[in-house]
Amino acid sequence: MVIVVPDKKEHLQKDIVIIGAGMAGLTAALYAGRMNLSVLVLESALVGGQIANATGIENYPGLPGVAGKDLIGTLQQQAENFGAVIDEFDAIERVSLTPERKIIETEAHIYEAGCVIIASGMERRKLPLPEEKKYAGKGVHYCELCDGHLYQDKVIAVMGGGNAAVDAANFLTKYAKKLYLLHRSQLRADESSREKLKDKQNVEILLETDVVALKGEKRLETVEIHDKANDTHRELAVDGIFVNIGVTPNTELFKNDIKRAADGRIEAGEDCRTNIPGVFAAGDVRSKEVRQLTTAAADGTTAAILAEKYLSKMRKG
Ligand SMILES: Cc1cc2nc3c(=O)[nH]c(=O)nc-3n(C[C@H](O)[C@H](O)[C@H](O)COP(=O)(O)OP(=O)(O)OC[C@H]3O[C@@H](n4cnc5c(N)ncnc54)[C@H](O)[C@@H]3O)c2cc1C
Repeated sequence: MVIVVPDKKEHLQKDIVIIGAGMAGLTAALYAGRMNLSVLVLESALVGGQIANATGIENYPGLPGVAGKDLIGTLQQQAENFGAVIDEFDAIERVSLTPERKIIETEAHIYEAGCVIIASGMERRKLPLPEEKKYAGKGVHYCELCDGHLYQDKVIAVMGGGNAAVDAANFLTKYAKKLYLLHRSQLRADESSREKLKDKQNVEILLETDVVALKGEKRLETVEIHDKANDTHRELAVDGIFVNIGVTPNTELFKNDIKRAADGRIEAGEDCRTNIPGVFAAGDVRSKEVRQLTTAAADGTTAAILAEKYLSKMRKG
């Protein structure tokens, strides 16, 4: 239905508006489309999210070694075949999400939705060095669960000092011949995780240490570190560095309406329901412990099915 209004923006109604076209958003679109709902997916960058450029994904069930672009391309096609519309060019300007009305205003449209699924994911903080781009995926990594296995019997560095970094380091010791934990100040991680790491034979923890340069011909071969206490520089030969210096969930847009956890993620349980009835959070944007493609797909599935139930209950009155 099209309603003409003086502000020139086209007003449109949708059963479901999904924000973000990563694994979670596209899975939700596929399920919702298949249930004959009108579905719009709004994406602010390129379809695919974090996994779009990954080369060989080895832990997606049933598709060993699939490339991110192939996995996402197939999923996008599946969602579109069921009628979902994906719009990559209409940026969201504001949202207003209340139990009664869900309004999403973009550059060109004002959408009113029966349900909203927030699947806007997160961004990992990148290693702040100009050569990061050269070595990304070639020695510089951000996901130990995804890429740790590439470093069987190799020398690994982990950068960061919070719980996530120390947990990543503990996990990676199962592969590493030698592991360095590098952190610019003192560790903030829980004592139990720190002690577990300190007990490992093949681990060296270097605190008050900055990573100042990455070097290597075609892939990463050494990292240059600055020992701040002694003001000395040296090079460490490493096969890979896992950067764990924080993430930023994409939730700024929703901060006035939706309850967020201390880390900025949206508070919602396994049913993906947020504090606003009819608004769901799916994938890495949701406050949860495990963030993988399979869990994003699971959230997308749950959110779409419960959104459909919500809509049909509202229609029955
Ligand atoms: C390098 C790398 C390799 C990985 N490898 C693996 C692997 O091998 N196996 C595995 O299981 N997991 C892997 N992961 C983790 C996996 O990619 C994520 O868990 C998963 O992609 C999360 O999907 P998502 O849809 O929740 O979020 P995202 O992938 O973050 O997608 C969110 C989407 O929302 C969009 N968006 C954000 N804000 C807005 C807005 N305001 N309006 C519209 N759109 C918005 C973003 O542009 C993005 O496209 C990897 C992650 C990285 C970074």
